[in-house]
Amino acid sequence: MAQKRDYYEVLGVAKTASEDEIKKAYRQIAIKYHPDRNPGDKQAEEKFKEAAEAYNVLHDPQKRQRYDQFGFEGPMGGGFDGFGATSMNMDDIFSMFGDIFGGHGFGGFGRQSARPQQNRGSDLRLKVKLTLEEVNQGVTKKFKLRKDVTCTHCHGTGAESGSTHETCPTCHGSGIITHTTQSIFGMMQTQGVCPTCHGEGKIIKNKCKNCGGTGITKGEEVVEINIPAGVADGMIVNVPGKGNAGQRGGISGDIQVFIEEEDHDTFVRDGNDLIYNLLLDFPTATLGGEVDIPTIEGKNLKVKIDSGTQPGKTMRLRNKGLPSVQGYGSGRGDLVINISVYVPKTLSSDERKAIESFKNSDNFKGDHQTKASIFNRFKNYFS
Ligand SMILES: [Zn+2]
Ligand SMILES: [Zn+2]
Repeated sequence: MAQKRDYYEVLGVAKTASEDEIKKAYRQIAIKYHPDRNPGDKQAEEKFKEAAEAYNVLHDPQKRQRYDQFGFEGPMGGGFDGFGATSMNMDDIFSMFGDIFGGHGFGGFGRQSARPQQNRGSDLRLKVKLTLEEVNQGVTKKFKLRKDVTCTHCHGTGAESGSTHETCPTCHGSGIITHTTQSIFGMMQTQGVCPTCHGEGKIIKNKCKNCGGTGITKGEEVVEINIPAGVADGMIVNVPGKGNAGQRGGISGDIQVFIEEEDHDTFVRDGNDLIYNLLLDFPTATLGGEVDIPTIEGKNLKVKIDSGTQPGKTMRLRNKGLPSVQGYGSGRGDLVINISVYVPKTLSSDERKAIESFKNSDNFKGDHQTKASIFNRFKNYFS
């Protein structure tokens, strides 16, 4: 196998690229090499898969960090679960599209059901926007959907009551028809689904007047969907059997719920960690004290501030972040407090005098080394 290319190189982005830049780069490559646009082009398909694999790792902060640290090999030197191209099939890749295409492009880029099944109803796709509080707790959402439902008149059979099914005259019940053609290699036989009975082997003598024999009609249904706690923007929650009803008693399709996340006024999400930017008043930073830190649960935690606390300091409140979504990772993330210090913009004349009196004090002189390190620490949060 050819040498694997560096993931950043695959997406054509810098090692410092933001999540947005990575998303954009992947989107462009995915559109360019999408199999629907390059039918039968093996090279395009490889490029498409390669980009998907790179994106799968780089858009996930935890995987990206591990990759930055250990490369392809992983910390044990034996390769990485979840990193290999072999573990990602095309369905995984297509399901990742929810992440980057949002609600757009599903028409053209969507796929017919990956599991061809006789009369299976088609899938429905929904988008749901969640607050961080809903992500934290998990939530049940109700949707009123217009979709294919089982015909109430014939109960999905497609036949008028009393009508019987009879063996399909075209395929004599097999559901398959065989064509025999003459070719330069001799007689060739090809098989196909019977066009008369669509593979069912039987036809309805007296079709239902309500649904015309399909067994389904358009209808409205209120569907309740449980979204588990810990989901993230771009994830897809699959709800089996709640999509469009299948024709003539076929199984229903699924509903795929694409998760979107609303920005939060107080917290910034970073994986399962929550980041809280604390603007500390100057006296508390200098003298020490106690501050109230809000949690996603709506409570306030008393947090001790040491005297001489520097801007750029980070504190971590373990397990006060978001829960992991079922089956991925374990436990909760942390609440990360980034401290900066508020400098008053205006001063009364007394305050001015007091501050001026500190100007010549050695305790109030910073040195350039410290300033550089503070800047570097901050840079990570604002770039
Ligand atoms: Zn009917
Ligand atoms: Zn037939």
